[in-house]
Amino acid sequence: MGVFTSKTGLVMGVANDRSIAWAISEALYQQGAELGFTHLPSPSSQRRVRRLVEPRGARLILPCDVQSDADVARVFDAVRETYGKLDFLVHSIAFAPPQELRNPYLQMSREGWHLAMDISAYSLLAACRAAAPLMTAGGAIVTISYYGGEKVIPGYNVMGVCKAALEHSVRYLAWDLGQQKIRINAISAGPMRTLSAAGISGFDRIRDHFTQKAPLGRNVEPSELGTTALYLLSDQSDGVTGETIHVDCGFSVVGI
Ligand code: NAP
Repeated sequence: MGVFTSKTGLVMGVANDRSIAWAISEALYQQGAELGFTHLPSPSSQRRVRRLVEPRGARLILPCDVQSDADVARVFDAVRETYGKLDFLVHSIAFAPPQELRNPYLQMSREGWHLAMDISAYSLLAACRAAAPLMTAGGAIVTISYYGGEKVIPGYNVMGVCKAALEHSVRYLAWDLGQQKIRINAISAGPMRTLSAAGISGFDRIRDHFTQKAPLGRNVEPSELGTTALYLLSDQSDGVTGETIHVDCGFSVVGI
């Protein structure tokens, strides 16, 4: 018996076995959770996700482009049909046009800014609204942020602005969802080598600097994001909502 035995959750944002959402899924599986997954509608995204989650016996694997209200509605209808309820949700999704990320923030186009905000910040709100009616016995939601939402990280650009919006959305959503005993929190993760990170210019420099400045003198392990998500999604954190917890080896508490 694990802490999540008989608990059902939806994980949005697994691209491959390096994804933060996969590290969280592994931790949840170890604790007995039943997990459903979404992936982008492209055949390659579907292939990558199915290869990972089918061997784990996932009963719900569905395409979902979070820019589409119809996709989001269809996914949560399917969650209702498949499981009848939802105990938790993992939102681990972000995107900004790579060519625009490479330019100075000052040059960001209106279209690129809207696209990044839509996928990286608004999608949390859309997913929460659809998930809440299924969380009839209360629930817990986790999303993934980064320090670039608090301080300027050159090269992180519009994504930092998206993370600021995401973290403040978490606070407003905590207020709206609290009445239904649904908690929502963000994990602010240290830099991880994932597909998304490949789009951030100077990412290797960011990681090198991280290990020099972080009090623990090392990078974060994916499993450490998994265990913090377990805490936030379980009743171990029953009194915690609207928070952003840094899992960054202490990087964010150091000035110089
Ligand atoms: P990842 O493995 O590339 O995950 C990002 C996911 O977002 C992918 O599954 C991607 O799908 C999905 N996605 C992009 N656009 C989407 C859309 N329109 N609809 C639905 N899904 C969409 O990278 P990751 O690093 O684990 O990123 C997960 C989260 O962690 C992101 O919010 C990221 O900003 C955050 N984060 C990352 C780091 C880091 O250093 N890596 C640090 C702190 C926070 P496809 O792969 O199929 O395109």
